[in-house]
Amino acid sequence: MIVLKSEREIKKIKEAGHIVYLALKAAEEACVEGATTKDVDKAAEDLIVANGYNPSCKGFAEGDEIPFPACCCVSVNDEIIHGIPTERVLKNGDVVKVDIVADKDGYFADAARTFIVGEPKDKEAVRLIEVTKQSFFEGLKFAKVGNRISDISHAIQEYVEKNGFSVLREFQGHGVGISMHEEPGIPNFGKPGKGPRIQEGMVLAIEPMVCQGERYIMESDDGWSIITEDGMLGAHYENTVAITKNGPVILTND
Ligand code: MG
Repeated sequence: MIVLKSEREIKKIKEAGHIVYLALKAAEEACVEGATTKDVDKAAEDLIVANGYNPSCKGFAEGDEIPFPACCCVSVNDEIIHGIPTERVLKNGDVVKVDIVADKDGYFADAARTFIVGEPKDKEAVRLIEVTKQSFFEGLKFAKVGNRISDISHAIQEYVEKNGFSVLREFQGHGVGISMHEEPGIPNFGKPGKGPRIQEGMVLAIEPMVCQGERYIMESDDGWSIITEDGMLGAHYENTVAITKNGPVILTND
C-alpha cells in the first residue's frame, strides 16, 4: 500500500531530512585518512542523537537478517551499499558511501552520499561519483504527478549507461516517511511507463546505486555489505523527495 502524506507530515519528514543532511556533513568531515569507518559512523550518530533524533538503521532487520549494528551504512570502494562500520582505516583516495536514516515522532528521512578521502586516485572515481549524483537529478525530472514510477527508473538507467557505468538491479529506491521502507519500490532500471502512477503526497527515497564496471554483486561474509563481483568501485546518491503539485521537493537538505 502506498501511503500519501499530508503537508503537515511532509513538514515533519523535512525536519528529519535536515538532520540527515547535517549528519551526512558530519560524516563527510570525518572521512579523513587514518579515521576508521566506525569514526565516520560515530560522527553522524552523535549529531543525530544530539538533535533528539533516532538513528533508524541501528538494530534494523527485515525477515531473517542480522540486526544492523550501527547508525550509518559506511561502504568503502568495491562495497556499494550496506557496509558495516568497523575498525577499517580509511586511506587516501578511498571512495566512501554513507547512507543515513533518522527518525523522530514516527517520521523518517533517508539520504546517501559518496565521498573521496583526501585526493582522488583517478579521474574515473570522480566521474563515477558525478554521474551517480547527476543520474539522481535525471530521475528527479520525471518525479512528477501523472508520470509513472518507472519513468524515474528509466531516466536513471539511461543516464548511467550512456556514461559507461551500470546500475544495481537487486536493490532499489522506495517510499519512505512513516517508516524506513514503504511502497512503491523504485528500481534504477527499466522501461518507462510502468509501475504506480506518481501522486501528490508521495514521499520517495530515490537512490541510484552505480557500479564502475559490471553490475554484478555479491553479499560479503558479514551478512550485510554488498560488494561488486569484479572488485571495481561503486557509488551511491540518495535523497528523500516529496511529490507536490508544483513538482518534486528534496527534503534531505539544508
Ligand atoms: Mg538510504
